[in-house]
Amino acid sequence: MTSTPSIAIVGGGAAGLSTAMYTAELGFTDIVVFEARHPAEGSSGRSAGIFNRQTNKMEELQLRAFGGRELDRLSTWSSFSLVRRGYVRVAKTEEHMEAYAAARALQDELGVPGELLDQAGLAALVPGMRVDDFVGGLYGAEDGHMDGHELCEAFRLRAVELGAQVRNRTSVAHSEQVGSQVRLIGTDNSDLGTYDIVVNAAGPSGPLVAEALGVRQNIVNERHQICMVEFEDRPERRIPAVQTYVPGSGQESLWVRTEGPGSLLAGLHTQEIRDTGETIDPENFNEKVDMDYAEAVGEEIVSRFEGWDDLRLAGGWSGLYPVSADGRFQIGPYHDRPNIISVGGLGGVGLTNAPAVGRTAAEWIVNGEPTTFSFATELVPDRASLYPEG
Ligand SMILES: Cc1cc2nc3c(=O)[nH]c(=O)nc-3n(C[C@H](O)[C@H](O)[C@H](O)COP(=O)(O)OP(=O)(O)OC[C@H]3O[C@@H](n4cnc5c(N)ncnc54)[C@H](O)[C@@H]3O)c2cc1C
Repeated sequence: MTSTPSIAIVGGGAAGLSTAMYTAELGFTDIVVFEARHPAEGSSGRSAGIFNRQTNKMEELQLRAFGGRELDRLSTWSSFSLVRRGYVRVAKTEEHMEAYAAARALQDELGVPGELLDQAGLAALVPGMRVDDFVGGLYGAEDGHMDGHELCEAFRLRAVELGAQVRNRTSVAHSEQVGSQVRLIGTDNSDLGTYDIVVNAAGPSGPLVAEALGVRQNIVNERHQICMVEFEDRPERRIPAVQTYVPGSGQESLWVRTEGPGSLLAGLHTQEIRDTGETIDPENFNEKVDMDYAEAVGEEIVSRFEGWDDLRLAGGWSGLYPVSADGRFQIGPYHDRPNIISVGGLGGVGLTNAPAVGRTAAEWIVNGEPTTFSFATELVPDRASLYPEG
């Protein structure tokens, strides 16, 4: 390998463009990002864009703390901004509150802002929300939401400024080994060049791209839906994002976040892997919202928020969570193919974690090991937990 390796990144979503940006910032600038459509037209542009650091998992919190700092930096050269309207995760039992108290301790360790609320505090924070079945919550005033297109554009701008190229409407279909390099071949059999390092950041198409590169990527796609809700009475609902799903509970529950004056995004969320054994074809799935799902979300909102019965379901959309088979991200090289790097399995938290994921991939590419997060060496894509049957 030469001292300035050539790098191809397949996929121009949050994972690929973040990897491009951090790799260029670390000094390797001979980068081409191949994007089958346009940046952020995959899952990244279909996201609810919620950013929160209200979790009691240390690994997640470390990644998100990094993300929180980096998202501010993106605003210095682009129109990206994190709308810091706050985020609250409710507790339904005292046990949940204990878990949230443990999360607060971790937040303090990492300098992440957060606040434990009792039931009265929760009621005061979210006016009109029925709280009789909640005992409290964990609130981050500096969390909020973002736009996936803006996030990707911020990564893209900086990467290009540092010398990277982004080729839109260019799909990688095959590859061949040429000495120690990899030649990429497009869908129309076009020669897309030879590269020292190839990064698979194709999101829900990651397993297909992995196959084209001669490796495996154990990711299953789950379809998730988002409803748009409008109110006849237009005044903006000035509330933080509310998550009534409790991690580990297994119960799909309502989330809402403001979108604009008199409008909200909402859905029913669970983080548990659905384990249906099925994956959804990224080229062929229903991108709309199901009517019965929208009605269920509407009913949940009306029963949860007093006086919100003037709501109107205004459509919505669906997208895919690329879910890693063991629930952890896949970032790093393959043992037998060290010049193929996987950056995938970002599931339902890929925008939140895009900075940390991209930075970790970039450290593998430039330094040969991840340094910012001590646990990141465990995230290699050929680890045993992804392939229990060998
Ligand atoms: C409904 C929904 C709600 C979500 N809500 C949130 C949220 O609130 N907060 C949060 O943090 N995350 C959320 N997410 C998750 C987040 O959006 C994803 O984890 C993230 O976008 C994944 O990014 P990615 O770059 O891996 O994939 P993608 O954004 O899908 O990017 C992959 C790209 O690769 C391209 N590609 C595929 N195949 C090829 C090929 N052969 N050649 C070239 N290019 C190719 C695709 O066109 C695509 O642009 C949500 C996702 C969905 C679907």
